[in-house]
Amino acid sequence: MNLFLFGILICVSYSSTSAGKVRYDNYTLYRLTPKNEREVNLLKNIEESNPSGYDFWTSARSVGTPVEILIPPQSGNALRRISSIFGIHTEVLIENIQEKIDQEAGSLEGSGDFDWTKYHTVEEINQWLESLVDKYPGVVTLIKGGSSYENRDIIGVKVSFSSKNQNKAVWIDSNIHAREWIAGAVNTFILNEILTNKDIRNVSESHDWYIFPVINPDGYSYTFTKDRMWRKTRTPYGKCFGADPNRNWDYRWNTGGAGRDPCGETYPGPKAFSEREISTLSQYISSIASKLKVFISFHSYSQIVLLPYGHTSQHLDNYNVTYPIGVKAAHSLAKRYKTKFDVGTITESVGIATGSSVDWVKGVHHIPVAFGFELRDTGRYGFLLPAKQIIPSGLETLDAILTIVEESDKV
Ligand SMILES: [Zn+2]
Repeated sequence: MNLFLFGILICVSYSSTSAGKVRYDNYTLYRLTPKNEREVNLLKNIEESNPSGYDFWTSARSVGTPVEILIPPQSGNALRRISSIFGIHTEVLIENIQEKIDQEAGSLEGSGDFDWTKYHTVEEINQWLESLVDKYPGVVTLIKGGSSYENRDIIGVKVSFSSKNQNKAVWIDSNIHAREWIAGAVNTFILNEILTNKDIRNVSESHDWYIFPVINPDGYSYTFTKDRMWRKTRTPYGKCFGADPNRNWDYRWNTGGAGRDPCGETYPGPKAFSEREISTLSQYISSIASKLKVFISFHSYSQIVLLPYGHTSQHLDNYNVTYPIGVKAAHSLAKRYKTKFDVGTITESVGIATGSSVDWVKGVHHIPVAFGFELRDTGRYGFLLPAKQIIPSGLETLDAILTIVEESDKV
C-alpha cells in the first residue's frame, strides 16, 4: 500500500480521556466493505498497524464482508481520503457514538428490580444470582469460579434438578469481553428461562447447568464506570492496561491472530494464562471438564455460531458431528424473528484467532460440543445494542441453545 497514505493514518494522535469517563464525542462508526482481495488486504494492513485511536469493531475477513471501525474525529478525513483513493465502499453507521452511549446510560436508570429491559452492573447480576439460591433451594448453588486482577470474584451458578444429571452438564459463559453487554444479558435471560419456563422443563431438568454471566468482572465493571468501549482485562502492562482474555487460554497460545502491542485490543498477554481471571477459571473448568458435554461462550456481535478452531482452517476432531448441530441451532434461532446466523469455524468466520476458551476446552479437554456465539447485531448498533433487543435476542438464542442441548444428547 501507499506508504505516504499509511503514514497519514498512523501518525494521527488522539486523546479521549479526561478526568471522568472516557468520552467519544464525534467518534464515528464507519462501515467499509471491501470488494476485492486488494481492499481486504489493505484493511488488514491498517488493522495490523494498530493506528492510534482506531478501534476495529470487526476485522477484515473476506470480499464483501463489511468491516466496522470506530474512528476519532480528527482521523475521519484521513480515513475518507484513503477509502476514496482506493475506492472502498464506505458508509457512516453512527455519526457521533457518544450520543448513543449517553442514550444507553440514561436507560440504565430504573426500578431497581432485576429484569431484561435494561443492562445491569456486575454487582446487580451477582446479587440476582445470590437471590436465586434462596428462591430455588437445593437446585441453584452459587459458585466462585475464579477471581480477577482487582480481586473481584467470578461468580456463577450451578443449576441441578437431579443428581442423575451430573454427567450431562452444559456450560454457558459470557462477557469475557467487557463491552459485549448483550452477551451477559442473554445469558442471565436464559438462566431465568431454565428456572421458570414451563415449556422447556424437559431439557432444563434433565441437565446440569453451569452459568457464568460475567467472567471478566474488572473489564465489565470498567465499561460502566469509566469506558463503555473497554474489551480486555485490567491488568497493567507498561503504560497500557489489559490483555485480551479470549486470546489468553493455553492452547496454541499466541500462534496467530493476536496483537503484540499491550495497548492493542487483541494483546494475548505475556504468556498463556497470564490473566488471573483465565488461570483461575480454567482451573475450575478443568475440575468439572469430564462432566461437561456442551460448552458455550457468548460474545457479540456479528450473528455467527463459531466452532473450533482458530489456528487452522482444517476441520478437526468431531467437526462432522458438531457442524450439523450448529446449522440446526442457527435454523432454530431464525424461526422466531428470521434473525440470520452464519455457522463456521473461528478461522473461516472471523479469521485466525488463537488462545480462545472454546479452542482450549476442545483441544485440551475434548468437550464434545463447543460453540462460541457472536450474538446480535450485524453492525447497525454493534456493541451498543439497544436494551429493548435483550428479550428478543434472549428468546431466539434460547431456541438455539435448546436445539444444541437436545442434539448433543444424541452424540
Ligand atoms: Zn467477544
